[in-house]
Amino acid sequence: MPIYFDHNATTPLDPRVLEAMQPYLAGPYGNPSSLHRYGRAARDAVEAARAQVAALAGAQPGEVVWTSGGTESDNLALQGATEGQRPTRVLYGATEHPAVLETAEALRGHGWVVETIAIDGDGLVDWPAFEAQLARGPLRIAALMAANNETGVIHDVGRAAGLVRAAGLVRAAGGLLLCDAVQAAGKIPLDFAACGADLMSLSAHKLYGPKGVGALLRKAEVELAPLLHGGGQERGLRGGTENVAGIVGFGAAAELARTGLEARAAHCLALRERLAAGLHGLPGVTIFGERAPRLPNTLQFALKGWEGEALLMALDRKGIAVSSGSACSSGKGEPSHVLLGMGLPRDLAYGAIRVSLGQDNTAAEIDRFLVVLAELRMAAAA
Ligand code: PLP
Repeated sequence: MPIYFDHNATTPLDPRVLEAMQPYLAGPYGNPSSLHRYGRAARDAVEAARAQVAALAGAQPGEVVWTSGGTESDNLALQGATEGQRPTRVLYGATEHPAVLETAEALRGHGWVVETIAIDGDGLVDWPAFEAQLARGPLRIAALMAANNETGVIHDVGRAAGLVRAAGLVRAAGGLLLCDAVQAAGKIPLDFAACGADLMSLSAHKLYGPKGVGALLRKAEVELAPLLHGGGQERGLRGGTENVAGIVGFGAAAELARTGLEARAAHCLALRERLAAGLHGLPGVTIFGERAPRLPNTLQFALKGWEGEALLMALDRKGIAVSSGSACSSGKGEPSHVLLGMGLPRDLAYGAIRVSLGQDNTAAEIDRFLVVLAELRMAAAA
């Protein structure tokens, strides 16, 4: 049986989510903006989903802006918060996802000063450096992810928001905090109201929902310019007819994630600990971010003597799907920017393999993985 250990890349669609979506694919065909009964039925479904997604993240329904996924949410946050503003500074964590990193970097060309927030060898924010950085000048927006997609390291978003707020008060600069919670949602509790972030990105396909739908949570007072102009949907923040079936699926997935969060997290953590115990028994294994709080489903490691992509392909031939940390899709063969951002040496970063577990994985699959890994190690050594 093939083994899927790549849930941080994407999750399978939960059959209950598909069931919730089906009527909106094959049934009512109204446009949520239409005033007649077809339109009103679609609008009701979109609004019910809005409440479900808000509940997962501890937000108000009115704070949810539908998008096409995490990438668009990050773009809307960073581009939308800087468009038309007098350029000052934008900061982002050195281990952020490319959806944040590349969007922030693109702002350089528009007069913004763009700097990275230093991350230490455990994958955590270097707080004294961050505080000093905040004191150096005005800030428009800082981005810090709730949890890293490669290492699973969880950030103290509340602390970052407090520092940004305090710096903003001192300098009257009105700095904002964007939290990319794409990987955290459905794996650890989120509280948009309490954590102090002004903007938060979410994506349905990381929590057993459909691909191509996400949300940006936005505090009412945050001024944003839209990326997509059009029919005034989403209170003018995102023009375009809503993806009704996708949104209904996201709502259903969010509801399942909220009610099943503890059980899912406990299941994944037990498997991850079994995996970690097995890996510790193999010589030459480094587990990244191991001393930091991490997502219960995520473990990234390197095996001495193996290059990550080579190990990924060897595992694939054995029917096991994992991810390597390197940017294989770009064809550049560059090691993971996350591990380099943590200050780890390039040769170690080249070896990175990420295992990301899900609700359907089993202890037998972990045991099989460990056996295959030991065999590959032996074969390489021979
Ligand atoms: N942010 C993080 C932390 C992610 O892990 C991902 C996807 O891997 C994204 C953003 C992009 O989300 P999407 O695939 O929905 O565009």
